[in-house]
Amino acid sequence: MHLKDLNFLTFKEKENLQSLKIKTLEELLYYFPFRFLEAPKNKQISDLVVGEHVTISGIVVDIDSKKTYTKNVAFTKATIKDDSETIDAFWWNMPFIAKSLKVDQKLTLTGVVAERNGETFLSNPKIEKVKNLSIEIDGSLFEKESGEPMTGIYYENKNIKSLALRKIIQKCLKSSEFKKIENLVPSDISKKLNLPDRQNAIVRRQFPKNIDDIVATNKYFAFEEIFVMQLYREHEKALRKDEHAYKILEDKPKQEEYFELLKNIMPFKFTNGQERILDTILADMAQDRPMSRLVEGDVGSGKTALAFAAAVATIFTKSKTTRKALQVACIAPTEILANQHFEFFTKTLSSENYFGIALLTSKGAKIWPSKSDREKWVDVPKSRVKKLLDNGQIHIVIGTHALFNKNVKFENLGLIILDEQHRFGVKQRMALIENNKQNKIVKAKNDLREIQLEKPIPHLLSMSATPIPRTLALTIYGDLDLSILDELPPGRKRATTKIISKFDREIMYKKLYEKVKQGKQAYIIAPRIAHDEETSNKSSVEFEEKRIKEKFPNFKIGILSGKDKNKNETIRKYYNKEIDILISTTVVEVGVSVANATLIIIENAETFGLAQLHQLRGRVERSSEESFCYLACDSENENSLKRLQALEKSNNGFELAEVDLADRGAGSLIGNRQSGLTDIGMEAIKNRKLVETAKSEAQKLLQSDPSLSNYPNLKAKIESFAFHEE
Ligand code: ADP
Ligand code: MG
Repeated sequence: MHLKDLNFLTFKEKENLQSLKIKTLEELLYYFPFRFLEAPKNKQISDLVVGEHVTISGIVVDIDSKKTYTKNVAFTKATIKDDSETIDAFWWNMPFIAKSLKVDQKLTLTGVVAERNGETFLSNPKIEKVKNLSIEIDGSLFEKESGEPMTGIYYENKNIKSLALRKIIQKCLKSSEFKKIENLVPSDISKKLNLPDRQNAIVRRQFPKNIDDIVATNKYFAFEEIFVMQLYREHEKALRKDEHAYKILEDKPKQEEYFELLKNIMPFKFTNGQERILDTILADMAQDRPMSRLVEGDVGSGKTALAFAAAVATIFTKSKTTRKALQVACIAPTEILANQHFEFFTKTLSSENYFGIALLTSKGAKIWPSKSDREKWVDVPKSRVKKLLDNGQIHIVIGTHALFNKNVKFENLGLIILDEQHRFGVKQRMALIENNKQNKIVKAKNDLREIQLEKPIPHLLSMSATPIPRTLALTIYGDLDLSILDELPPGRKRATTKIISKFDREIMYKKLYEKVKQGKQAYIIAPRIAHDEETSNKSSVEFEEKRIKEKFPNFKIGILSGKDKNKNETIRKYYNKEIDILISTTVVEVGVSVANATLIIIENAETFGLAQLHQLRGRVERSSEESFCYLACDSENENSLKRLQALEKSNNGFELAEVDLADRGAGSLIGNRQSGLTDIGMEAIKNRKLVETAKSEAQKLLQSDPSLSNYPNLKAKIESFAFHEE
């Protein structure tokens, strides 16, 4: 419901809310306080005074159920311990209490302090169970009324202050419109998982009576958000299952020819992992339904070769309507990577096969093979590539974002490959598919009428070298099937990783000197481009350039940064060993592959995420040579050092991503905007059980009601979701 339809708010209030980007009732209700004025603390057991009405918190250390000797009355005694002392609590004539309590359980008790024979105890106190962070949330938490709500503090701006927001939200919660707010999580799921209903959760999140209310309601909103997100992704996935795609390699002789060719042209034998995933991909693409698969594989695991094999399978297949080979679009996040793929594809695919490969970036275009020399490529205007794509004469096009452009049209696009797909938004992924969906008018053979032919949807192969923890992948890429490539090509050596304090920098420079003298190359990574006096404790590309040039005047130094116009030229020189040491920002993180580079120094390593550092380290793990990764860190911060030590110990990207997830949150692995999650949702990703439960519940719901016709509220929510997605 839009704010303007709420007549209990004044015009001014609505205007002010707008300035906080709050436009609907729902947005207002979900505008939660970011902190609370401190609630009165519970009493310590050692401070209790007889006769006082108190609330204490502690852990059950003992439970005993008996009858009194004299009156034969059943009672339960529980011994509760906090940091200060223990106290006994008694419940008379309430046999169910004993059953509901467990040793080691955390409790909050409210009651009167009594005394007998010099022993203090609590008599019939009210029990509140303090839940730990599992998703079972006791619904009863919300039923009792005790104490005053805590005072929430809201993010404010110059038009509207926290106190005013609190009052407006109070008004809202009393309004008849609020009473009409319906549950999003279907009630049978809520019941099963002990989740409160939505109205209750909103009230308790806005006006909690204690910390537990906040914890429990956050859990509810986390579940709601993840559940809705999963439902949306699952829904998308289900929709795509109804679409048609080209069946790749349907023709048996073609299939054999394909495998034969692959065996001949691949420069190496596939690892078991690659083999297994290629089988899965080919099985997916043999279907009449479009594949949507994400291959997550650690740096250097050999995803490019998989992409290549999938691409060749596609161009080996002909469209039934046009009788021409299908086409492939391979999109990389950077020009460097696109070039690299173009190199690999053109080098590997023999020109005897008469397939055409093009490179298309915002800078320009290339076509392979060149007419004059079939071993080479040639520069052409971009418009030429576009034309050849439109009439089906280019079979594989490799490019950057430029390929997302609406004016890039294909004759028969059979497969889209997205490399480093986390660099692209979901929306972009979808747009590319949608662009190619437009109906095409063709003239059918022997028929003068024009018929509308719906073009099949291209298959989608996404690849990512950022090992994203499963929970995160399930949520934000829930519409994709997941394959994990967790094997490296044989003979690959892992880099020796060392944290370097400011006192042992010479060790690292000595190694650098040795390596370059041996003809090896090195990277130096700095967190920023330019030096900034204000925060000069952080290194920069500029600063390192100066430092290294002074230290090693005879070495050839190259500089690389994201903004650099000569980026490709510099990379090319590095590939050709015209540069010994490449000083760069993290732009090299994605995919630059120079096997001769065997040493990397990362300055201010503590400023990077573990997953990112692992990626950077991957740059020097491209061969069987011994290699070194130096994590320069002047900080003595214990936490920073602990994180970097994880990198010294582990070479497993997925493991490191889990560490990142646990201590820096999902935001460090993927941007909030990219993920489409709120802070609560991001936090929820840490809870594997919650994410998996949300997923299975979403799947079950869609199975029982694919169009969500019994859940109009959820359906509307998902539709608005699709609309808002970046
Ligand atoms: P990433 O998965 O990080 O994209 P690449 O596809 O760039 O990795 O592969 C890294 C390197 O490993 C490349 O030089 C590639 O040629 C090589 N490679 C890939 N697969 C194999 C294999 N099965 N055997 C040997 N080398 C391989
Ligand atoms: Mg790659």
